[in-house]
Amino acid sequence: MNPIPIASEPAPNPLTLGATVSCGHCKQQAVLRLDYANLDLCGTCFSRLFERRVSKANRDFNMFGNDDVVAVGVSGGKDSAALLYVLYKMSKKGRFTVKPVLIDEGIEGYRNLATKKAEELCQSLGLELTIVSYQEVAGHTLDEIMVLRDERQLSFTSCGVCGVLRKDSLNQAARKVGANKLAVGHNADDVAQTFLMNALRADVKGFERFGVVSGLGNQEKFVQRVKPLVYNLEKECALYCVVNDLPFHLAECPYSQEAFRGQVKDFLNQVEQKHPGSKFNVLASFLALKQKLPAVVESERKAGTCTVCGEHSSSSVCRKCVMLESLA
Ligand code: SF4
Ligand code: ZN
Repeated sequence: MNPIPIASEPAPNPLTLGATVSCGHCKQQAVLRLDYANLDLCGTCFSRLFERRVSKANRDFNMFGNDDVVAVGVSGGKDSAALLYVLYKMSKKGRFTVKPVLIDEGIEGYRNLATKKAEELCQSLGLELTIVSYQEVAGHTLDEIMVLRDERQLSFTSCGVCGVLRKDSLNQAARKVGANKLAVGHNADDVAQTFLMNALRADVKGFERFGVVSGLGNQEKFVQRVKPLVYNLEKECALYCVVNDLPFHLAECPYSQEAFRGQVKDFLNQVEQKHPGSKFNVLASFLALKQKLPAVVESERKAGTCTVCGEHSSSSVCRKCVMLESLA
């Protein structure tokens, strides 16, 4: 497996070109400039490039194939809109089914607007959207949890708790629609960020747990999770949506300022600007290290179920239940 398909797969710059520039592949009018390859592309050729990378990720990591039912986590944002559209197109040629699922965190003034965009996209593709909420899974909306956290002077962050609840909720949503795979919209930026965050926290367990494919695929309570956008940059997901006229929500979550991830993201963007290709280098380092660590599979194999809620957990009480107990 070549973990770095990107070196010959340039990243586009969201630069709209003049009418005189033609696509380097098909000679139609170009609409995007691929900066570091000095190449201009039309929307069609860029979309093909984006989709080829998803197919390559699928092949490299053996993500899904014939007869699989793939739940696709959608949020209303650009990454998951691009993901759903690509997988929908692939499913028309292949023999697998896609089922969009959305997690309602319960964030006033944000979630409802983003959900509308996800519903719009699903409707245009003729797909039924299944929604699971934190209210159902944890008994509280995220807004309520944040109020309780402040009242009890607890130290967890909104994104920390949201991440724990999202994983659990997505897993439940995937099982609800009868899926045996769960595709999430994490792109190359996300993977590079998570790798750096784990390094900055010296979180070895986090590094072990995190992968392009999570889970062994044969665990009753845990639907195997895959990241088909791993070879595409965040910026490219937005471009893919624009080029294909996909509806997506642009506003940021009101809690995002709290995120450690945001700081790492800014750092990586700055480095990338000065040293193009840095994000892919971080991604390549991550993938190379993962290949050397069979211990990950071992820790997955040992995972059982939470004695409180019965969901998948690597300890006797899952992180969601520990957090909920602290709020009680
Ligand atoms: Fe959840 Fe944080 Fe994302 Fe908001 S920014 S949806 S709190 S993970
Ligand atoms: Zn639990």
